[in-house]
Amino acid sequence: MNFFGIGDFRTTHSYEMGNNKKGKKKQPPKESQAERTRREQAAAKKDAEENALLDKEVEKNINDGSAAKNLHAHELQMFRAMPKIELHAHLSGSLSPGTISKLVGNKDKCIQTIAKYRLQKPEEMKKVFESFGAVNEALEKPENLRIAMIETCREFCEDGCIYLELRSTPKHTRYMDYETYLRTIVGAILEARVLFPQMKIFFIVGINRTMNYDTASHILHIVGVLQLESNVIVGLELSGDPKVYAKHLVSIFQVARRFHGLGVTYHLAETKDYTDDTLDYMLTIPDRIGHGTFLHTNKKLVEIVQFYKIPIELCLSSNVYTKTVPSPADSHFKYWRDRGIPVSINTDDKGIFPASSLSEEYFKVAKVFNLSMDEMITLNFNALRSSFGYKYSCTTFLDTFRKIGDNTLI
Ligand SMILES: [Zn+2]
Repeated sequence: MNFFGIGDFRTTHSYEMGNNKKGKKKQPPKESQAERTRREQAAAKKDAEENALLDKEVEKNINDGSAAKNLHAHELQMFRAMPKIELHAHLSGSLSPGTISKLVGNKDKCIQTIAKYRLQKPEEMKKVFESFGAVNEALEKPENLRIAMIETCREFCEDGCIYLELRSTPKHTRYMDYETYLRTIVGAILEARVLFPQMKIFFIVGINRTMNYDTASHILHIVGVLQLESNVIVGLELSGDPKVYAKHLVSIFQVARRFHGLGVTYHLAETKDYTDDTLDYMLTIPDRIGHGTFLHTNKKLVEIVQFYKIPIELCLSSNVYTKTVPSPADSHFKYWRDRGIPVSINTDDKGIFPASSLSEEYFKVAKVFNLSMDEMITLNFNALRSSFGYKYSCTTFLDTFRKIGDNTLI
């Protein structure tokens, strides 16, 4: 298949131009079977050349300054072959160059989108949030959202993920309302479950800090209906600009857990100057905490995490690329692990942060904190136990536990 449809466009375009010039309709010359084969082979060759050229350009754009070149291929391979759990991945931040090229049908636009989307170096949080905007247009239509979802699931599966919780905040676009957005995602996950049966896939619905109460409540109502129709949505999460105060949404999450049986997780204390609503959210005793990078700077918050043993979702590369920690070794991973708190390893936005696939994140954590394979397997068991699919759905997890224990993907 043509990568961008460019070859097809050029052929059709030049043929029509030729006809118009002469002012009369002319039938194309009859083509023999051999000529047709030759033409198709030439077109395929041209497509392959165009694709190779694009791959090169994309590779160059995204790999400059990336930590990937420091990785030893054989070590990374070991983590690719390890069964892994992903609990914190945003769909709109996880699009690979290959997926973006499927969504954006124009080569130049695709390269521009990737350049705006993928970071080259650590940036301020504000700039990182702008990256998400680069793919807004590409995800406006239901069909594109479906493709993005399935391709992202494919990539996680090919990277050795055996349990995936993807998350996304419903958007009202020119082509979708909130319900269509969520129905498209649920449908795509049901498709992906058939395509990638070796990976369990669930979905967490995002509530943005900037949402008003009525919008969040409306979304929760749709979630309730979809829960009755399928076993896909397992959680609700709070996300968005960490500087925005959002105490008005606390009760939405309490209803989500008590009356909808959903797992709840909040992006909390992501930055040093976190908002005053952090304690209000912590007092609801969430099932997990996203990042929680600066929770340990407040005694009261530390007591709550320790008393209830609330699992932390760690996203190491994300912390470094958003400049919340100066280096992976400075992250809060060790602080919480030393206190017996389950810490899971996650990607956050593998499309935006270079060299942050799930295997690469596992590799970095093992290397930076000098963990043995047995210790990594224990982290994995704890991650699966804190997953919402395990806690809140009736799916069997015996085989998933077996794969982690035997350290095998099959
Ligand atoms: Zn996140």
